[in-house]
Amino acid sequence: MIIACLDLEGVLVPEIWINVAERTGIDALRMTTRDEPDYDVLMGKRLAILDEHGLGLPDIQDVIGTLSPLEGAPAFVDWLRERFQVVVLSDTFYEFAAPLMRQLGFPTLFCHRLVADGKGRVTDYRLRMPDQKRAAVKAFHGLNFQVIAAGDSYNDTSMLGEADAGILFRPPDNVIEEFPDFPVTRTYDELREAFLEGERRCA
Ligand SMILES: [Mg+2]
Repeated sequence: MIIACLDLEGVLVPEIWINVAERTGIDALRMTTRDEPDYDVLMGKRLAILDEHGLGLPDIQDVIGTLSPLEGAPAFVDWLRERFQVVVLSDTFYEFAAPLMRQLGFPTLFCHRLVADGKGRVTDYRLRMPDQKRAAVKAFHGLNFQVIAAGDSYNDTSMLGEADAGILFRPPDNVIEEFPDFPVTRTYDELREAFLEGERRCA
């Protein structure tokens, strides 16, 4: 039996922080791990910016609720679920993902949590564990599943490497250059074909 592991942002839905920055007009929220490689520092800055602008969790959820999955993503997830057990592995937070997961029919999601106080102010965050995408693939192997994984960026490469077949979807050039062994897909049709190819390799 094969489990299909999918990254969320960039594969099924748009980048959440970047869209929150665009829709709130708060440019400083655009920064990513490329601007601030230390994730703890990055999240600390993001939470401080939210605070400064008086944005609580319900406000951000309202913004995220106006976003849609990438075009073709819901049909792709439906297709995938008929053929594999699908698990979404993401470094986002359940509180952010919910409005988008609803539009995808709530596939299983492993990610992290935000901590908010009674007034909705985001006070902290809880990473479930470090390198959780790779750890999930390893755990599935321990349960005697095979794994085909797809992701778009750097934080997916350990998951792709651990999987029996790893696929890149719309990756940036530097990821393609650094990880030339993973097939590169740009459309959901290509991604479907890559999953079928992965399935043949798992057999
Ligand atoms: Mg991604």
